[in-house]
Amino acid sequence: MTRGWQTYMRLGINHHLLFPRSFESAETHIRTLPQVLAMDAFEVVDLFILDESYLDQAAGLVAQSGKQAVYNCPLMTGPGFNPHSFDEAVRQATLSEAKLHMDRAKLLGARMAVVASGSDPGEDDRAKQSILFADYVAELCRYAGPELELIIEPFDRSIGKRLLIGSTPEAAAIVELVRKLGVGNVGLLIDMGHVPLMEETFDFAIRHSAPYIRHVHLGSCVMNNPSDPLYGDMHPPWGYPGGENDVPELVQFLCGLFEVGYLGEGKRPTVTFEMRPYPNRSESASVALFIDKLEEAWRQVALKRGKSV
Ligand SMILES: [Zn+2]
Repeated sequence: MTRGWQTYMRLGINHHLLFPRSFESAETHIRTLPQVLAMDAFEVVDLFILDESYLDQAAGLVAQSGKQAVYNCPLMTGPGFNPHSFDEAVRQATLSEAKLHMDRAKLLGARMAVVASGSDPGEDDRAKQSILFADYVAELCRYAGPELELIIEPFDRSIGKRLLIGSTPEAAAIVELVRKLGVGNVGLLIDMGHVPLMEETFDFAIRHSAPYIRHVHLGSCVMNNPSDPLYGDMHPPWGYPGGENDVPELVQFLCGLFEVGYLGEGKRPTVTFEMRPYPNRSESASVALFIDKLEEAWRQVALKRGKSV
């Protein structure tokens, strides 16, 4: 092993998962953002802005930090929102809300904004709603303009968030549909914590999204114990008891990213930790452990790949 992961990726941290209370509280959001922005290991910060009250302040802090912002739009599954509803008024309301987030993304200087589909309508309506979703994404891409790329994040359909998209092949098909509508600023995100929930293997998910991957989330999930408080798509940390992913899975996942060329010589794509802190550990102690695990996985990846890493 001659070169570390820093040579091959720009590492990021997801602010709202490291400080989960920031999902609900603007005050917590802006109070904890500087802690994340002060963490030297990261060149990238994945975040969203809950409301306008602290938008300018957050934008100033991000700019000052020199970190690259990746905007993660909240899910459009709340009351009155659905990107692919059969009800035109609901689709328009969702679009208006999503456009506000595009504006916030730009103010933060983000070059990528992560979006997702809405709730799964069930098998009979999936094909029709997939077309409506492609129209929605295309419209949002046009609004965002070429300086902001929209990346669709596939979620599970059966255990956690229960969204329309993915599977991964269906997510890839949406990108193709959007491109056919004449829009180029669209791609995919792959989240290693979502892959088991989607009942896919890393190999399958990476292979089917390979030409479109623009960003990566690293994490885990719990799917075998419905009574666990983090059951479903709750982003437990690596090695969480009963969780699916730890160092061995990270080794597989990183090897897959090398195989399809997302990671490789002369590239430094973005890869972001998207995990909650460990129970009974502080945020910074948890981040130190995430990095230890990444280092350990990297050593194993280097051994597997020989001199090519
Ligand atoms: Zn994610």
